[in-house]
Amino acid sequence: MRAIIAGGTGFIGQALVGELRGAGWEIVVLSRSPGKVAEVFGAGVIGMRWEGGDWASLLGPDTVIVNLAGENIAAGRWTGEVKARIVSSRVNAGRALVQAVQEAGVLPGAFVQASAVGYYGPRDNNPIDETAESGSGFLAEVCRAWEASSVALEAMGVRRVIVRTGMVLGHGGALARMLPPFRYYMGGPPGTGFQGASWIHLADEAGAIRFLMETLQAQGPYNLTAPNPVRFRRFARVLGQTLNRPYRLNVPAFALRLLFGEMADEVLLSGQLALPGRLVEAGYVFRFPELEGALKDLLG
Ligand code: NDP
Repeated sequence: MRAIIAGGTGFIGQALVGELRGAGWEIVVLSRSPGKVAEVFGAGVIGMRWEGGDWASLLGPDTVIVNLAGENIAAGRWTGEVKARIVSSRVNAGRALVQAVQEAGVLPGAFVQASAVGYYGPRDNNPIDETAESGSGFLAEVCRAWEASSVALEAMGVRRVIVRTGMVLGHGGALARMLPPFRYYMGGPPGTGFQGASWIHLADEAGAIRFLMETLQAQGPYNLTAPNPVRFRRFARVLGQTLNRPYRLNVPAFALRLLFGEMADEVLLSGQLALPGRLVEAGYVFRFPELEGALKDLLG
């Protein structure tokens, strides 16, 4: 089996490549700079550029395309320009992949489209699964456009899986940004800490994507979140306890808004309690279902 992974040089992509290589998959990574692919993975992973669509000659029923490409959402303030890049980098990647498939006239066995639990918008009360409607706000808008960018493949008969991912915990990403204040005895949740934190260990993110690639009946949206989401105040407590540091120093909402503007409201001060209903129903067994075990594995 062959995986063609767009954006495979990133945080999730690198873990996915490791997971798939271990299972014997052949890997092709699509990147804006294929030289980076050799730097990141060394020999054994083929790096190709998007332009020209040469990679499409590798398509066939034993190939699965995974689309992870997109500009970082939480890197800083959302100026008009940054917002435009967040949307266009995702929508253009999805459309370019669809166009290359159309032009090649050969279909892949399946297509995995990245998305995020931000699809559901800010929801601080009840846990939700994939049956919930999309919500309000910029992130929900981005996710709808992102998911729609490759929908044309469904009409062509391609099995399309959408992975609505929560906050991925690994060495890097969101967790690396949260650690410094905790290490310096100033840790605590953002704002009230009542907002939901739908997290997933990086090993489960990669494991679940592989599971959905290999499960022929899998199609449609799947929440990629651990089965035990928590509120941020509990997340801060478990993180503090794992590091043996205090965890009660709430970061005031006004300070986060001052620093990060709208991004603070949508990414840090609101959230969802998203459940992986369809993934569990399909038979995926989580390696790290509880936050304590996940953080201990990464930081213990
Ligand atoms: P990364 O930012 O680590 O990597 C994404 C990859 O996308 C990069 O390696 C890069 O590949 C490519 N990329 C970056 N900017 C652009 C751009 N402007 N245009 C085209 N391609 C670009 O992301 P993650 O691995 O963390 O996440 C993968 C996807 O999953 C992302 O779309 C992300 O939004 C989504 N997601 C991630 C979550 C997380 O917690 N990490 C949570 C929810 C969703 P190259 O430079 O090789 O072209």
